[in-house]
Amino acid sequence: MHKTIIIGTGPAGLTAAIYLARANLNPLVIEGPEPGGQLTTTTEVENFPGFPEGIMGPELMDNMRKQAERFGAEFRSGWVNSVDMSQRPFKLSVEGMGELTAETLIISTGASAKYLGIPGEKDNVGRGVSTCATCDGFFFRGKKIIVVGGGDSAMEEANFLTRFASEVVLVHRREELRASKIMQDRARNNPKISWSLNRTPLEVESGPLGVTGMKVRNNETGEVETIATDGLFVAIGHTPNTKFLGGQLETDETGYLIVKPGSTETNVPGVFACGDVQDNKYRQAISAAGTGCMAALDCERFLENAESH
Ligand code: NAP
Repeated sequence: MHKTIIIGTGPAGLTAAIYLARANLNPLVIEGPEPGGQLTTTTEVENFPGFPEGIMGPELMDNMRKQAERFGAEFRSGWVNSVDMSQRPFKLSVEGMGELTAETLIISTGASAKYLGIPGEKDNVGRGVSTCATCDGFFFRGKKIIVVGGGDSAMEEANFLTRFASEVVLVHRREELRASKIMQDRARNNPKISWSLNRTPLEVESGPLGVTGMKVRNNETGEVETIATDGLFVAIGHTPNTKFLGGQLETDETGYLIVKPGSTETNVPGVFACGDVQDNKYRQAISAAGTGCMAALDCERFLENAESH
């Protein structure tokens, strides 16, 4: 039996692993299909404190993993099919590993950005297609950018990107936006943003240097047209990775895990959540790492109390 199992290896899970390993709790860390998490899909990270020259996303994650290993964290790759939280120790069914048991669990499985699922999109991730304006906007100084989406994220990203871009075209599949009025107004009042509403994205076009345009269907006329662009930011929402939990942990209406304010405690004692799987708001590597540290400390305290009773 493990004292603690950490599920997920983004900045939150790896920070929790560093802290728990240093506390001699020998955490088992289960790596899923995207080791290192969302940062491994970006290029340079310039806003993670401590790296004045910036650092490549995959390198940052590799460093965090090595740091956790140095103190004794054990890593295993596998897909967690299900978790039984009805009593402690908790039981995990993991592909290729059978059943594992743990006194405590840290859920740090993150959230996955939704993609449009159109031809040319995935092939051009890192070559002009991005799902993170805070991460990649800086690389589009003086360039033209398309933002896809009609929610608050799209409005926020479009506004943010006008700091760098010469022009931002907001493409949305309907005439009406889903975004809140205040966010819409802010975007509508921004002279650098133009609107291509009622357009369904069909295909991302690219050349040797990356993205060159996006083919869209005008839903009013049925005509297909290409909007030229240097970059494409897909802002159609995120999905927190919680399916394997089978509804045993409380979530908000958008599926994010709910933690007790100011802590990482979930509704099940001994189960802690950190990183994007419980954060619909900040979604930054550094804030995820911060909650990973909190989860480790909450977990340590829980184990201490459990042992003294
Ligand atoms: P969202 O509200 O779910 O909006 C997603 C948008 O993407 C919708 O307009 C949707 O179109 C469009 N979309 C979804 N799938 C698509 C597809 N396959 N092709 C084309 N378009 C597609 O997601 P969000 O904007 O990420 O916001 C999530 C939550 O976070 C919301 O509660 C939001 O208020 C909150 N948030 C708040 C702030 C803020 O206040 N500062 C900032 C960001 C997010 P339809 O409208 O046609 O469905």
